Amino acid sequence: MLDIGFIRERAEEIQQAADRKGIALSIGELLAVDDRRRELQRATETLRAERNRSSKAIQGLLREGRGDEAERAKKAAASELAKLKELEERFRQTERLYDVLMLQVPNVISPDTPDGASDRDNVEMRRAGELPAFGFEPRSHVELGESLAIVDIARGVKIGGARQYVLKNGGLLLHRAVQQLALDLLLRKGFDLLDVPVLVKEGTLIATGHFPGGRDQSYAIQGEDKWLAGTSEVPLVSYYGGEIVDLAAPKLLGAVSACYRSEVGSAGRDVHGLYRVHQFAKVEQVVICRAELAEGLAWLERLTANSEELLRLLELPYRVVAVCGGDLSQKNYKQYDIETWMPSRDGFGETHSASLLLDFQARRSNIRYRDGDGRLRHAYTLNNTMVASPRILIPLLENHQREDGSVRLPPALRPYMHGIAELRPV
Ligand code: AMP
Repeated sequence: MLDIGFIRERAEEIQQAADRKGIALSIGELLAVDDRRRELQRATETLRAERNRSSKAIQGLLREGRGDEAERAKKAAASELAKLKELEERFRQTERLYDVLMLQVPNVISPDTPDGASDRDNVEMRRAGELPAFGFEPRSHVELGESLAIVDIARGVKIGGARQYVLKNGGLLLHRAVQQLALDLLLRKGFDLLDVPVLVKEGTLIATGHFPGGRDQSYAIQGEDKWLAGTSEVPLVSYYGGEIVDLAAPKLLGAVSACYRSEVGSAGRDVHGLYRVHQFAKVEQVVICRAELAEGLAWLERLTANSEELLRLLELPYRVVAVCGGDLSQKNYKQYDIETWMPSRDGFGETHSASLLLDFQARRSNIRYRDGDGRLRHAYTLNNTMVASPRILIPLLENHQREDGSVRLPPALRPYMHGIAELRPV
């Protein structure tokens, strides 16, 4: 949510942001609706004041025993009331339209965001790690999952339908190991770790900017005002929703949660294996900091560096890309994705997404703090994946496989795997 004053001042820039993000919205129409809304509000208030004056005058006439005049005044007041009701209804309708349009307004875009229409136009910034050179025909994570007896996609589909899976024994341990390693890293970096509800109210998803845009990506609970969140970013940001927080030091929040995604619109895409599923686990990082651009940008780098550190511990080759305008969501000002090498795709696949939202989310969530002059201001918010599993199991299994079908586990994971150094075919 942007401030309407800000939208008025920077209408052209915001229209450009909508166009670049592929959001069909006319800022001109929004501003016209806002003018009409304010005009109707003024007219309603004026008429309401007139009505108050008339009813006082009628009381006076009645007290003075001037019945005929009071009757005439009552008739005039009745037609005033009908007009007032009509105005109030028009105001309510215009306000509803205004609210709908306001929720669609995108955040502005950082000046260094590359141009482009889709993720194909994202720009690589750096690479780390060596791509594996196999002296044999490498297996996909699906083949490895089967031969190691740690992934059972057929039974996942039998239980839950398409895009479901079962992790077993070493698969379950690995899934939990990457999450615990990620949490321990965040703990060492001073994050507060939270266990949060992912069954959330619709208002919570609107407040974080995931709704209305992402409604079709989410699962609703039938008959209740409850939805399954697609990320713990929703409850983490909402933890401080409606509050005035002390941001002398930024709030660093981490959580691990199940994430639910309907993946509407991706029919036929990434149908093989564990890449795009309906339910997965994610360790998420969220930062709430003062509304200072330099501070926000510095945190974006640090959140990205945290995930890179994890990938280095997992000994996985990756690259960081600057996300282009067309791939930027409504709420983002600037975004980096980290893509990890996945041999079966013969390419990098997105495993992490780091975003700076400026005060867009904090306005909707009403998270404020007092600045140095004691003024109340909306905070800046950021988020980044620390690890998402089972997607990360794809590069882990595929990059560390050996010719005999075993998979080596990087030392950083072994303490969480009961000391197991490798997974062997059954
Ligand atoms: P996002 O919140 O959409 O930026 O996603 C963050 C990370 O979650 C992605 O980089 C993936 O690692 C993971 N992820 C997102 N959607 C899915 C999905 N449908 N299946 C598996 N992992 C996913």
